[in-house]
Formats: sequence, C-alpha cells, structure tokens
Amino acid sequence: MRSVLKVSENVVVVGGGLAGLSSAARLAKKGFRVQLIEKAPKLGGRAITIPLKGFNFNFGAHAIYGRDHSVLRRYENELGLSVEWKDFSPKKAFYDLGSFTTPMPSTLERLFRTKILDAENKLRFGYEIIKTLTSLERGEEGVRIGDYLKKEPDQVRDLFLTLASSNFFSNEPEEIPSPLFFQYYKRLFSTHTPVSYIGGGWQSVVNRFEKMIKENGGEIINKEKIRKVEMDERRVSAVYGKESVYTADRFIFCIPPKALVSLFADTPYHHLFEEYNRYSPNQVVVYDVGLKERIPSPYTYIYHKGERIFITDISYYDTTCTPEGGQLMQAIAYMNEEEMEQDRGKEKIATIESVYDKHYPGWRDLLVAKRISKKATVQEIKCVEDQRLMPVQFYSLDHAYFAGDWCQGEGQLSELSFSSAYEVSRRILDDSNQGH
Ligand SMILES: Cc1cc2nc3c(=O)[nH]c(=O)nc-3n(C[C@H](O)[C@H](O)[C@H](O)COP(=O)(O)OP(=O)(O)OC[C@H]3O[C@@H](n4cnc5c(N)ncnc54)[C@H](O)[C@@H]3O)c2cc1C
Repeated sequence: MRSVLKVSENVVVVGGGLAGLSSAARLAKKGFRVQLIEKAPKLGGRAITIPLKGFNFNFGAHAIYGRDHSVLRRYENELGLSVEWKDFSPKKAFYDLGSFTTPMPSTLERLFRTKILDAENKLRFGYEIIKTLTSLERGEEGVRIGDYLKKEPDQVRDLFLTLASSNFFSNEPEEIPSPLFFQYYKRLFSTHTPVSYIGGGWQSVVNRFEKMIKENGGEIINKEKIRKVEMDERRVSAVYGKESVYTADRFIFCIPPKALVSLFADTPYHHLFEEYNRYSPNQVVVYDVGLKERIPSPYTYIYHKGERIFITDISYYDTTCTPEGGQLMQAIAYMNEEEMEQDRGKEKIATIESVYDKHYPGWRDLLVAKRISKKATVQEIKCVEDQRLMPVQFYSLDHAYFAGDWCQGEGQLSELSFSSAYEVSRRILDDSNQGH
C-alpha cells in the first residue's frame, strides 16, 4: 500500500536542478513548507560537479553572463545566498582566426586593439553597440538575426554572429530571432561583468540552496522519480512517486517537457506540453581535461572561430577544482542539428584535441583525468526560428507552475532556469498574500 505524505499549506517542487532548487529555497525562506523531489541520488541536475581523480569537473554550467543583472545576484541580495564570484579577465580572452590570434573585443581598449575588425568597422561596431543599448536597434518579429544583419558590413555582421555563438552556445547563430538577439545584448552590453565564474564551482551554489531549504524547514527527497499526476478537475491534487503520493496546495514542475508529457499522459492536459517536447534542444560536445601541471599560456579563454570551439581555463578562476598545481580546462564544440543527426561528435573530439594541441602543447603528457560528452544538453529548447519557450503557467491548469531553461524568462541557459523559477515564486507569493 502507498503511504500518503500529507503536508498542509505547502508546495511540492518536482526536479532538483537550478530551477527547482532556487524556487524551493526562495519559498522555504519566505515561510512556505516545501518538499523538493529529485529522481537522481544527487541534487543539481545539469549543474552537478563530478569529482574524478582529485579534479572537480562541472558537468554543465560553468559561466554566468552579466552577473550584475543576473537573477543569481538577486538571490544573493534577497536571500543572503553567498556566491564567490570570479570575474573573467578580458585581457586573457582571444580569438583564434586560423593563422593568428587576436584580442576578443570585450572592452573598449581591446576593441581598439583587435584585428577582427578594421578601423572603419570598429567605429561601426561601436555605433551598433550604442544603438542596441539605446533600443534604437530592436530587430523585427519574424526576421532571423542572420537576415536582419545583412544591412551591416560583413565584418560587423560576422562579429555579432560570433558573439552570439558564444553566448547562446550555438552553431547556428544566424537563426536566432532578431528581437531576442537585441534584447539579450542590450542587457549584456550594459553590464560591467560580462562573464564570471564561481569559486567552488556550481556545486557550491547547489549546496547553498540545499542548505537554505533544509534550514528553513524544507524537505529534500532524493532518488524519487515522479511518475504521474492526479488531477481534481483543473487542479493538480497529487504527484506519485514509486511508493509515495505527495499532496500539496501548489506544485512547481522543474522537469523538462519530455518528462511533463509522460507525467500528464493520463490527463486531458498532456497536449499542453507536446508542442514544447517537439522542439529541439541545444546540444554541444564537451571535452574537459585535468592536467597534473599548469601549462603557461597568455589565454584563459580562446575561441577558435573557424571550428566554433572554445577552451576555458576553469582552474585559473576556480582554484578549488584541481589538486595543487593542476589545471582543469573545458572545451566546448557547438553543434548544429545536421551535425547532431549525423553523429559527428567523434569527429569533433579529434578537432577539439587539435585545438588543445595548438594552444596548450604538451597537454597529452600531463593528462590525469578527462571527461567527454558527445551530446550534452545546454538548453532544453533552443531559441532559434519559431521555437518558443514554454510559459510558466497555463490558463487551463490551476496552481501548477513550471520553471527551467525551457521556460520563458530572461537571458539564456541557467539564467532562464533562475529567472523562470524566480517568476514562479513571485506568482505564488503574490497569490498567497492575496489570500488565494
Ligand atoms: C556542457 C554544458 C555547459 C553549460 N554551460 C553553461 C554556462 O556556461 N552558463 C550557463 O548559464 N549555463 C550553462 N549550461 C546550462 C545549465 O547547466 C542549465 O541551463 C541548467 O543547469 C538547467 O537547470 P534546470 O533546473 O533548468 O534543469 P535541469 O538541470 O535539467 O534539472 C531538471 C531536474 O529534474 C530532475 N527530474 C527530471 N524528471 C524528473 C522526475 N520525473 N521526477 C523527479 N525529478 C526529475 C532531473 O534529474 C534534474 O535534476 C551548460 C550546460 C551544459 C550541459
């Protein structure tokens, strides 16, 4: 017989990734009784850290873009979540243009020095930044950025698309909707901290959210896969695990559309999720290496423009991720749909190795541990063409909320998870303050 875990005036959160953890922590801190249910033995979802031979490999997320405007920063201020920010050093970021490397134009001084643009186009690029910041440039609904930027000189268009490749982790930056592109860069160009890393890695953020949930009376249930929901007309009344049934006043689902389709399969609402399940995810090849010694290099970030591969020296920013004196680097190759379908991951791995050879000669002899993933999902729904992100609430479902990097919010990647989760907790707080 199933045991019924009845909790009063409370919230059940399904999924313990960044979206689930952050919404659960905020609501627990605000006095709700929270149960967080995660199917894996560890919390964190795609933000977990994998320890291997003394190295801590981040499975997924490594950087935060525009941290001063980020929701994680808002959690820091509002909830007292402590994050050890490690801001990226613009002086150590370069583009590899095949026959030479040149500074990435991440500051005005570096825009002046870079060879990716000639003098005339540097002025034009600067002017375009001002137009983006002042919303003079907003794009057009229905027009992809690749087409929208055709009015620009080739060098400027190319640089904008190169930037978008890095920030959207995309091999098809041309396909990004132009309004989304300008909305994103308006925010990013106005930041003082375009890229930051986290001391102690993402595991430290996961651990702090977990601690906050527990300290505020919340309960965390691991190794429990939610298999179905029970509906009372328009309202989710319970979710079912293997042995237990969880009831609550509100439910937040922080699990991807494919999991939602199966959860709601026996209800009249499964069609709500099918559209989002059809959209394609953004997937990349990841190749991280842990070395026993540091290889001296002028770069902490190098982007091979032709191959659309970047390498970040994670251990330069987060010294806790290696044994003493070691080095941990992350390489990512962006993939498009066709490459994924043709299973070109293996080929990409050889190319990544050649980029390591070029910029970090001798790495093979110093290798202690490596982690390769031929198909890592960076974002569950990629923001290209007419693919739409899922709403955080549906009109036909009462007291059910949704968050994750497949949901509507600000930014991209983990910022979508955090911002959709923040919006969901705001709605619950507002609603309960109004006595519903
Ligand atoms: C290689 C790589 C690099 C990345 N780099 C960056 C970066 O530099 N910057 C950045 O901002 N982001 C980056 N990301 C993206 C970032 O990791 C994700 O956006 C974020 O971690 C997603 O969190 P989430 O909570 O939305 O989803 P998830 O992490 O997918 O969480 C969903 C959780 O739900 C659980 N679950 C699923 N089904 C059930 C069920 N039925 N019952 C119970 N639990 C269930 C899963 O186990 C999982 O823990 C990267 C990702 C990858 C893979």
